[in-house]
Amino acid sequence: MSDHEHEPRMLIDGVLTEAASGATFDNVNPATEKVLGTTSDAGHEDMAAAIAAARRAFDETSWATDHDLRTTCLLQLQAALEGEREELRAELIAEVGCPVITTYGPQLDAPLREALAWPAAMIAEFPWRRSLGPKDAFGMGSLSEREVWKEPGGVVGTITPWTFPVEIILNKLGPLLAMGNTCVLKPAPDTPWNATRIGRLIAEHTDIPAGVVNIVLSSDHALGEDLGTSPDVDMIAFTGSTVTGRKVMAAASTTLKPVFLELGGKSVNLFLDDADLAAEIGSAAGVCFHAGQGCAIPTRLLVPWSRYDEAVELAVAAMESIGYGDPADPSNFMGPLVSARQRDRVLGHIESARTEGARIVLGGGIPGHLPAGYYVEPTVIADVTPSMTVAQEEIFGPVLVVQGFDDDDDAVRIANDSTYGLSGMITSGDVERAKAIAARIRTGTLGINGAIWYGADAPFGGYKQSGIGRQCGIEGLEMFTETKTVAWPAT
Ligand code: NAD
Repeated sequence: MSDHEHEPRMLIDGVLTEAASGATFDNVNPATEKVLGTTSDAGHEDMAAAIAAARRAFDETSWATDHDLRTTCLLQLQAALEGEREELRAELIAEVGCPVITTYGPQLDAPLREALAWPAAMIAEFPWRRSLGPKDAFGMGSLSEREVWKEPGGVVGTITPWTFPVEIILNKLGPLLAMGNTCVLKPAPDTPWNATRIGRLIAEHTDIPAGVVNIVLSSDHALGEDLGTSPDVDMIAFTGSTVTGRKVMAAASTTLKPVFLELGGKSVNLFLDDADLAAEIGSAAGVCFHAGQGCAIPTRLLVPWSRYDEAVELAVAAMESIGYGDPADPSNFMGPLVSARQRDRVLGHIESARTEGARIVLGGGIPGHLPAGYYVEPTVIADVTPSMTVAQEEIFGPVLVVQGFDDDDDAVRIANDSTYGLSGMITSGDVERAKAIAARIRTGTLGINGAIWYGADAPFGGYKQSGIGRQCGIEGLEMFTETKTVAWPAT
């Protein structure tokens, strides 16, 4: 890294700070297994200080009411991030293990373009107040004028994963700050430096008042539960696994605060019987994008039984062509998994498929040619029945599961046979036919024939156990507001 070295300190009440205990934890490069450096390791007292700062900033500064200040600050932060874009890119590749090509899209450049700028622009357009018109509510001759006011929710406890860390952090900070909230952000300890960098940029390059954004890093995952149990935190915005989402919701239930959850997925990549498989099935290899570590990646390839063998053969060819290895090498589409723990989880899932009678037609193990790093081979598993573990559980690795269906109704049934409902893709020779199927699949986002739904203006989130609420779009802004209905005598 050139000009701006990594930032090991947290941001609490406007000050870049070490943990009160002085403790640190290691940041490991998943492609080399080498320690990159250390980060401050917060405990409960640091978290308490951060919550107190966010509470005070919300209650005692003009942040919640000053639209112009918020617009200016969001654009300052965006400019500051753009100023260190290349350092951030190198840092992401080193600590996340994401291939450089992913940073030109959702890992960095796409969110940098709009995750702060779009909500900043929406501050002026958001319907902060709307009239319900006069009404004699009880029919007793007393006419009242009524309005609905949208106000910031308050202090937002924000917990984020390591998968697409900048993307997720900015798509939380942008909307919640635009709406006038303050926050305590607890990012994943696996990938701390992009978050601490954002903290330094906030402290040094923006007019965001002290305490509005606090960033607390800890090797103790459960420190995030303090956000749920604290009466000074008004709501929780969480992205991570469904298992952790349940714990976050349980902690938040002690103080009955709203929880906004973006959780796991098991999305389908559905090819209808009129699809041009030879031309389109390459999209199945998208499961190797960031080594499969993306919540919205369609990991279940659903193809008609009448074309099953052809589809498996084409999918294997697509997966075989994936270049993988050093994430800094632009010819590599796939890098390592983020940690040894994650790699072992993925290998365990592949083993369960073997045990349950599925057929591993490609990969299935650790590649022999890479000397270090948490890599798993691009893997295709065929003959998967809907009841198998790999058809139901999120694998979060470069593993494609191939399922067959009889007709459109059967395809919809299998697609919906999941506790998740996050995303998906449909390919068909007829867009209207694909749209009719899209209307029947219970999932938060769907792309038809390779089209991409993504954007700061596009609500994203899950049906069923993939989450509660929507990130981005108007719906995403509304997540961070409270609603007040006010009446006064009509004149
Ligand atoms: P995770 O659930 O293990 O951790 C997510 C965050 O929660 C981390 O910051 C972690 O430190 C924290 N955490 C862990 N235990 C906690 C607890 N008891 N209380 C409070 N916080 C706790 O998830 P991960 O492994 O970091 O990320 C992968 C998961 O995230 C996958 O399931 C993936 O589908 C999901 N994900 C979802 C979306 C989405 O938008 N729907 C986006 C990316 C990732």
